[in-house]
Amino acid sequence: MDLFEHQARELFAEHGIAVPDVEVVRRPADARGAAERLGGRVVVKAQVRTGGRGKAGGVKLAADPVAAELTARQILGMDIKGHRVREVMLARPVDIEAEFYVSYVLDRAAGTFLAIASAEGGMEIEEVAATRPEAVARIPVDPAEGVTEAKAAEIAAAAGLPPAVVPVLRALWRVLVREDALLVEVNPLVRTTNGLIVALDGKVTLDDNARFRHERWGGGEGEADGEGQGGGDVGLDPDVDPLEAAAAAKGLNYVKLDGEVGVIGNGAGLVMSTLDVVAGCGARPANFLDIGGGASAQVMADGLGVILSDPAVRSVFVNVFGGITACDAVADGIVRALESVTLTRPLVVRLDGNNAARGRAILAERAHPLVEQADTMDGAARQAAALAHAG
Ligand code: GDP
Ligand code: MN
Repeated sequence: MDLFEHQARELFAEHGIAVPDVEVVRRPADARGAAERLGGRVVVKAQVRTGGRGKAGGVKLAADPVAAELTARQILGMDIKGHRVREVMLARPVDIEAEFYVSYVLDRAAGTFLAIASAEGGMEIEEVAATRPEAVARIPVDPAEGVTEAKAAEIAAAAGLPPAVVPVLRALWRVLVREDALLVEVNPLVRTTNGLIVALDGKVTLDDNARFRHERWGGGEGEADGEGQGGGDVGLDPDVDPLEAAAAAKGLNYVKLDGEVGVIGNGAGLVMSTLDVVAGCGARPANFLDIGGGASAQVMADGLGVILSDPAVRSVFVNVFGGITACDAVADGIVRALESVTLTRPLVVRLDGNNAARGRAILAERAHPLVEQADTMDGAARQAAALAHAG
């Protein structure tokens, strides 16, 4: 989950990093008073979860409170790379002497964290990184050691940053660790004309697996104001697939894919194999859905509901290996799910493992015209692929 700039700024401030004074408003009329309280001249900044706001016209200087209101009116409602601006942050301007870039990011490929820093921060950082990679220092950070005084000095020296950034580099690492972030980025980190180091922008991506520890950011089931500014704002965030959002709302472990064979299985490993087997039969899986030990009719109905609401799906393959949750319980779940879900496309079920015979008998007795059974995973995949192509 990405935080908004003003939320990142709040975290930076809590961890001792200097940031500008700001106010956040949602209505142009509120910008005037906010600007007055901030001293008159302000920077008006779109609050959207994407970068490049400056280049898109989402960051503008306003000379006085009246101009601030006009500028806020321009920026509010703007579309920046598919993100609608619902809030603007007004900031007391800072006189910049130099702009730096600093970030910490989880480098999954290398299995470590990486400090990325440059003395040439600002809006052109991507251009700098592409054309002169030597101007961007990349220093691995061992998470067990963290950013010590020595490590911070090493990062600063490698990037050609002044020693005054060392405490900021250490504080920024504390933000990453304490807030369970996968990315913290400050661009620009500036040296002001009076020699202070100030974070003028902030991007923080929190680890969704730790969301329960950071409930202050909401982002789960919508927000108090109902405006859908949180991370999981179902249906409002253009970054979230609507089927995935619907599945997440039901607590399902679902990932949308591009194919035509819907897939339901129990256990992530089995579902991954199922995707491969479907692909091996010349069809394409439409999704990943692991119902885990969820044999309940409700989970099965929820899963079928999401899969069948995908118009690309032509057939559905339910692949279950009964373990602690036995096949008869799964079969019962399917039968009861069929009471609440109208099956609009064929379902191929493969039950194996614990109580497989009993499970198959339950399905056979139900004899739903659109439900077929298969003895093996390969056979079931072939059947599902053939039905998808025929349908
Ligand atoms: P981004 O384009 O989304 O990364 O938005 P930023 O918050 O980084 O703002 C874009 C640019 O506006 C920065 O790189 C700065 O050059 C400039 N800027 C932002 N705040 C101030 C400020 O207080 N004073 C000055 N002089 N420039 C600012
Ligand atoms: Mn920036």
